[in-house]
Amino acid sequence: MTPSALTATIDLDAIAHNVDVVRTAAHADVLAVVKADAYGHGALPVAETMLAAGARELGVAHIAEALALRAGGVDAHITSWLHAPGADFDAAIAADIDIAVSSGRQLDAVVAAATRRSAPATVTVKVDTGLNRSGVAADEWADFAESLANARADGAVVVRAIMCHLARGDEPDHPLNSEQAQRLDDAAADLRRLGARPEIMHISNSPAALTRPDLSRDLVRPGIALYGRTPVPERGDFGLVPAMTLTAEVALVKKLPAGQGVSYGHTWVSREDTTIAVLTAGYADGVPRLLSGRIAVGINGRSFPGVGRICMDQLVIDLGPDGGGVAEGDRAELFGNGRDGGVTARDWADTIGTIDYEIVSGIGARAVREYV
Ligand code: PLP
Repeated sequence: MTPSALTATIDLDAIAHNVDVVRTAAHADVLAVVKADAYGHGALPVAETMLAAGARELGVAHIAEALALRAGGVDAHITSWLHAPGADFDAAIAADIDIAVSSGRQLDAVVAAATRRSAPATVTVKVDTGLNRSGVAADEWADFAESLANARADGAVVVRAIMCHLARGDEPDHPLNSEQAQRLDDAAADLRRLGARPEIMHISNSPAALTRPDLSRDLVRPGIALYGRTPVPERGDFGLVPAMTLTAEVALVKKLPAGQGVSYGHTWVSREDTTIAVLTAGYADGVPRLLSGRIAVGINGRSFPGVGRICMDQLVIDLGPDGGGVAEGDRAELFGNGRDGGVTARDWADTIGTIDYEIVSGIGARAVREYV
């Protein structure tokens, strides 16, 4: 395949390997989180790879993401957990998507959709055990549980699972992790008492799956670890392999005399006669502008600094007076799996004070996803 101007190469063997790493560490089956286009890696090929590697089911935020997987031929169980008031629960029921319900209002809307369709909705109960984001809040719990039990008795819903999301999973020893698990166990006991017996419980995101097997219930629900990125670097990399490598093309090489400013605002000025190159990647592609002057790329095994401001579509690097042996059409690695000392998405994240989740999921649509 001819590489495009900007390519995110996805190593599917790495993804399969990472599924195995997480499953082994968690001592539990995996509900693989493939929301946000599989954290920027491409939902369909990645989901298929994860399922083939032993992931048991899939999870996404929006119903539209679940429907896209179904349209792509995925018949595994899919749970979708973030719904705005106009969410298309009818379509979710028709496509056999498990709807995670976070409030009495959502339950009412799901029951209405099930009644319209004369078919029960499969639901997961999402309990807010302390993240204070989505999930049924503590003060609503008793009423919600009763409504759910009634909806189940009426045949409007099948209560398949119960879940919560951790607030401090990346602090494995924080007492809140166990407290949240206990609150979920209590909520499940309430539902059992009311006759609405969820078959499946899941709590753990990647950091918990990797470090707190005691919190694993029937499934764990990892995302970032499956893409090869440790969410708890102080505990090591667990043998995870980063799956995305971002490369851009050298579009232009040219001489630059000493004393010339480069890119908008001339924030960098050449100190000597040098050679610069223009790469086909910019902030519209997910290369943060905050990395201006703080980025290094690899070309033919050598590292070259980015200079001047990163633009929407392009960035400039300094090849040095001898041009570094770089030619137009060469490929520059912006980040990769870090082997051989190369730059990783985490290096970018650390440089600008964010997390690598934001880097990989922010790689734009112009980067052609290529699967190897
Ligand atoms: N579960 C839910 C509800 C999520 O929103 C996410 C992602 O934010 C995950 C699981 C996966 O988290 P992580 O990528 O940290 O494993």
